[in-house]
Amino acid sequence: MKKRHLKLLMADIKHKSAGIHSSYIPIGIGYIGSYSLSRVGKENADLKLFTDPDEVIKCIDTWKPDVIGMANYCWNSEGSYRILEYAKNLNPDIVCIAGGPDFPEMCDTHEYMDSRSSYLDFYAYKEGEDAFADLMIKLSEGNKLIDLKKEKQTGMMSIHPENNNLVVGVEAHRISNMDVIPSPYLSGMLDQFLNGKYVPSFETARGCPFSCTFCYQGDDWFNKIAKFSVERIKDELTYIAKRMTNHGAVEVRICDSNFGMYKRDEEFGEHIRHLQDEYGWPNSMNVSTGKGNWDRIIRISERVRHAFSVGCSVQSMFDGTLESIKRRNMPPELYKKVVEETKKREGSAMAETILPLPNETKKSFFEGLEILANAGIEKFVPHTTMMLKGTKIASKEHREKYNIKTRFRLLPKQFGEYKGKKIFEVEEVCISTNTMSFEEYLECKGFSFICTLFAQNQYEAIRLLVEEANIKLYDYYFSIWKLITSKETPLTKIYNDYINESKSELFLTKEDLYNYYSDSENYKKLVAKKLGKNLIRKYLATIVLKEFSSSIEIACHPLKSYFNKSDGILESLENWTKVTRDMGFAFSGNNLDINNDLLSLNYDVNAWYRQKDKEAKMPLINFKKQVKYQVTSNNTLISEMLDLKRNRYNQSTFDLVEGILARANNHSCTVRFCTN
Ligand code: SF4
Repeated sequence: MKKRHLKLLMADIKHKSAGIHSSYIPIGIGYIGSYSLSRVGKENADLKLFTDPDEVIKCIDTWKPDVIGMANYCWNSEGSYRILEYAKNLNPDIVCIAGGPDFPEMCDTHEYMDSRSSYLDFYAYKEGEDAFADLMIKLSEGNKLIDLKKEKQTGMMSIHPENNNLVVGVEAHRISNMDVIPSPYLSGMLDQFLNGKYVPSFETARGCPFSCTFCYQGDDWFNKIAKFSVERIKDELTYIAKRMTNHGAVEVRICDSNFGMYKRDEEFGEHIRHLQDEYGWPNSMNVSTGKGNWDRIIRISERVRHAFSVGCSVQSMFDGTLESIKRRNMPPELYKKVVEETKKREGSAMAETILPLPNETKKSFFEGLEILANAGIEKFVPHTTMMLKGTKIASKEHREKYNIKTRFRLLPKQFGEYKGKKIFEVEEVCISTNTMSFEEYLECKGFSFICTLFAQNQYEAIRLLVEEANIKLYDYYFSIWKLITSKETPLTKIYNDYINESKSELFLTKEDLYNYYSDSENYKKLVAKKLGKNLIRKYLATIVLKEFSSSIEIACHPLKSYFNKSDGILESLENWTKVTRDMGFAFSGNNLDINNDLLSLNYDVNAWYRQKDKEAKMPLINFKKQVKYQVTSNNTLISEMLDLKRNRYNQSTFDLVEGILARANNHSCTVRFCTN
């Protein structure tokens, strides 16, 4: 057979029609591309990597690749298929491959592959490196596409070109020593993305020892942990830090399932601290923290200057639910300890929940939030249950057992028009079960939103006074929720809009969704970001930017019966918070050099807030004193925010604030300082 030089195009596309939703460096295709080149031989192949769908199409037109490999996740697979379809129409000989977690259960794969067989040649299921590299070797040896599709290829599925049968190759062996993948960073392959616009991403370890039924990685196949060596990761981090020295605001993403759980993660923490000191990067980390070894996670978080929040991804606090989703959480008593230890070190703790999950009831969900809120969790991240393809929860058996009812919704901002076809990325979500009705789901969602809002750092000083009044945080959030939902407050309309849009974004079928958004008027609204956004982010930003002042008054409302109105304690706290924490101010266009505002208060809130010795902290009532503060802008923070806006996303102010509020460590929210 005649050897062939291959032109490989690999892409992990990010739709950008309504702004880029995520800007992670496409590390998955970086690893697969780097590994494939090492096995095929660099002299036998050229490789180009992309994230921009328009650039991919341009490259197909001009460079004319032999092979296209698309990374399929739930947020981009429709777009990937559109690109493969376009490429195949142009050139029937091009080899079209997709791979990634957005792939159905084995019993549904024949229909899935068959319906895409006019443009999809192979699907790499499970781990992609060996599957892709093996196939590239065969192509470079001169094997014909039509013949390869008839035979079983390791880690690949295809449709037999003659009899339409599904051809399933044996599973690729999982790589155990990850260092066999040459570093795509150190080779310069990813240099094009190290420009401050993309977030550097890594795996330090691959796999997860847990078996959660709602997660792709919960499959037994991923249970073993494969690792890169510590030295390799350190070298990569140093390489990147040298190039990111002017982009300190750009975070680093560590894609591990359980960062911080393993002893060696402390070495990464130590190294990151060194890079922070030497290069000023990274100041923020996006990680999923481990589900055990909390003392270690807290230590690492402290070491890296709290660049990440200590996460309690509980999903549910109800034993009946945890059992059904095959998840184990730490005992409830331990949450308080974890949060206390985290706070002692000036870090912050967050909790993720998923709703509705099997066996969860409205009562059990609220009880779960009570444990978390009273433990002092400072960041709530509520998710709706996604029926991810290939997971156990999405199986027929689980749907029937728990009477899972679902709807379809657009993934936030994930759509585009490519070569005349409108494409929408659609997720199937659970909206009710045999233990939770749709109305109850909406109530739980609404209450979670209020917890998420008032646990934001903007309201931190008010929460401190709540604690001084001996009000349990859960009772506090609950009373605000009751106030907003039973009276006409300035936030009531926004809250109702949030609930109504949570309903109207749902469609009975995927086709209904496509029809609705394909309509030119509705499509224009998507592009203008009037529709199709992440609703929690949208409504948090709406309140923080447009109703901040009213939200502070509402946040103080439950305290009114605890403090004497006439001596101005609440008024002092309200005014101090409005002045120091109004994020909208940072983007108001005010000249940062003008810092002559004065603030007069009956209480020295500043001195109270800044008490160093947390153990011997005195309550605010001890700080009664007429004060006049000079108010100055926190120019460092404001510049950092504006820098993010300018460099990384070039977003609107609203979009930027949405992102900042969702950041793992948004604890720097003091936009103005008060000084005596
Ligand atoms: S949800 Fe997290 S802990 Fe559970 S299987 Fe997935 S990656 Fe592992």
